[in-house]
Amino acid sequence: MPIDLHTHSDVSDGTTPPAQVVKDAQAAGLDVVALTDHDTTAGWDEAEAAALEVGIGLVRGIEVSCTHGGRGVHLLVYLPDPTFPPLVEALQLVLDGRDQRTPRIVERLQQLGIDLDLADVERESASAAAVGRPHIADALVRRGVVRDRDEAFDRYLSPGRPAYVTRYAAPLEDMLATVSSAGGVSVIAHPWGRYGSSALGEEALADLQRHGLAGIEADHQDHGPDDRAALHAIGRDMGLVVTGSSDYHGAGKVGHDLGCNTTDPGQLERLLALAAESARRAGRRTPGVVGWPRWT
Ligand code: AMP
Ligand code: ZN
Ligand code: FE
Ligand code: FE
Repeated sequence: MPIDLHTHSDVSDGTTPPAQVVKDAQAAGLDVVALTDHDTTAGWDEAEAAALEVGIGLVRGIEVSCTHGGRGVHLLVYLPDPTFPPLVEALQLVLDGRDQRTPRIVERLQQLGIDLDLADVERESASAAAVGRPHIADALVRRGVVRDRDEAFDRYLSPGRPAYVTRYAAPLEDMLATVSSAGGVSVIAHPWGRYGSSALGEEALADLQRHGLAGIEADHQDHGPDDRAALHAIGRDMGLVVTGSSDYHGAGKVGHDLGCNTTDPGQLERLLALAAESARRAGRRTPGVVGWPRWT
């Protein structure tokens, strides 16, 4: 039963609409897919309709941009009440930070002599509730400045490159508490992806678990075989849910095909049990898994 718990649509920096992601997931042979666009639930309704149409399980989620110890951490949030005001407000702060950063990056690129303006980026991000560097990368591709998103990040947009600009991200421990109050569950995305095992070792994860963390994403393309094995072992020892997923971005990220990594059904069962408990404790009405009545 293939399960993929981390994908993006063009509501953030994926390249296909939410309904298409869900249909492609079904066509790829997945039984359950999670839509986890960056910092927004804007794609949920469209994805739900598509999941009911094609008959696939859909877990509604968000990949929230957080910060912890001065470093960026992506938090996968599953099945929270999307109307819970503190969650809505926290996501809005992140979205505002994205909107404030975009013109500053464009300005930097202009100072480097590149012929690009905000309208170019807006054209690439027309469907997006969460505008990000990948949309600026797409505008650079369209202008013929770079070949693809990778080259745009390597030359201009990554930290340390000349057009890099930071933005606001939500304090991780606050977000864990907000998610619990919203009746959802939290899983750290690609925990060792950007900084290796140093930033989020066992001790740091144990502390986050005390703040409500439910799981870690071990099987991800950013992790080599040794890191995956180590994260599985940590998850087992600590009683954290261990997931695997593609981090699919449509054509926007090569090597992240739907279902390239998957989550064990028993781990999803545990995650959903924790979500049900979280919802009960919070007293919130939370979304169930579309198309899987026994789990709703
Ligand atoms: P932002 O959300 O604006 O901070 O941009 C970061 C996002 O860009 C990440 O979540 C990835 O989805 C994407 N990204 C980062 N590096 C690359 C890359 N080299 N090629 C394509 N996409 C990337
Ligand atoms: Zn992304
Ligand atoms: Fe991520
Ligand atoms: Fe992602």
